[in-house]
Amino acid sequence: MLHKTFIFLAFCAFSFGTFAQDAYLNAESEDTDKTYQGEEPYKVKMYTQKFKAEKPKNIIFLIGDGMGVSQVFAGITANQGKLFIENCRHIGFSKTQSASDYITDSAAGGTALSCGVKTYNGAIGVDADTVKVKSILEEAEDQGLATGLVSTSAITHATPASFIAHQSSRNMYEEIAADFLNTDVDVFIGGGLSHFIARKDGRNLVNELKEKGYTVENDINKIAKIKKGKLAGLTAQVHNPRMNERGDMLPVATETALNILDDNDKGFFLMVEGSQIDWGGHASSTVYIVEDMLDFDQTVGEAIKFAAKDGETLVLVTADHETGGMALTGGDMTTGMVKAAYPTTSHTAVMVPVFAYGPGAEEFIGIMENTDVHDKMKKLLLGK
Ligand code: MG
Ligand code: ZN
Repeated sequence: MLHKTFIFLAFCAFSFGTFAQDAYLNAESEDTDKTYQGEEPYKVKMYTQKFKAEKPKNIIFLIGDGMGVSQVFAGITANQGKLFIENCRHIGFSKTQSASDYITDSAAGGTALSCGVKTYNGAIGVDADTVKVKSILEEAEDQGLATGLVSTSAITHATPASFIAHQSSRNMYEEIAADFLNTDVDVFIGGGLSHFIARKDGRNLVNELKEKGYTVENDINKIAKIKKGKLAGLTAQVHNPRMNERGDMLPVATETALNILDDNDKGFFLMVEGSQIDWGGHASSTVYIVEDMLDFDQTVGEAIKFAAKDGETLVLVTADHETGGMALTGGDMTTGMVKAAYPTTSHTAVMVPVFAYGPGAEEFIGIMENTDVHDKMKKLLLGK
């Protein structure tokens, strides 16, 4: 009896411990969330298709977590016919299967894109045998380029983590946070403060970051004022809240990161994640998906504006997998109304789009493996 009680309590403690970061997996939507009613659209600018260089000096890699073709078209409908993503004229598809599963998770999906290896679900920056693999961000760092990560989730969550950390499981948040200290990443902005300061090992990683020369800020308005040097922006204890609370945090953080990284003469690699398109999919919520899709597209707009002016920057927009099996069952291009149905609250196996703009964009047409996206980026940016 005592034994059973102990197991039950241990289970409760475990559930509670993981609750904060994984609550999105259990979110349930109201029926009203199935239909997005439409709002005032934003203006989409179309930019030049002429670039200064043949090969990119910089790459801005934008990942819409859980963003399949339906999520993109829901965004197009909601914005009454147009998105910034449509500046990308070179388009392909990425196969997302992992080494262990037909349906990937964001850890294996992220690691395929960051490190170019197919691995097991849950793996962060390690291959199928749990051997560490250098990410494109780390390789860029080695060659003297500036590097950055921006995310609306915790910066320690699977997608951003796979670009900078090497751990056997995505749930090792505190170990993942410590891995940031093993790199020279120039800028990172996202949630996850608690994984840096409320730690079992007693380390205060915020103090350690400051000792390494980082400016550490928690308020996006203060972060936005930083123009140079090393920056760690930790804007939430765990994840950033939904759009209605976090506002334009993602486009502002992206603009801030670009401004700092652009100072490096050798170029830069920046990964930006719209994390919560996936969470809308897990919740079967069209409203959540569309709000985050439009936020992500406006962030893509910031990246393309920068690239059009710069002329040596490649912008890539893709996803790690689709979430929800979203099916558009109704809509109205004049009001922005979108209605959808969902056969699952999990990820699906379908190919996801790859959109490219800038020098080297033509490499990303056709059907490719997710690992090919990594290999092509690396060849273009680092010549290997
Ligand atoms: Mg993610
Ligand atoms: Zn997911």
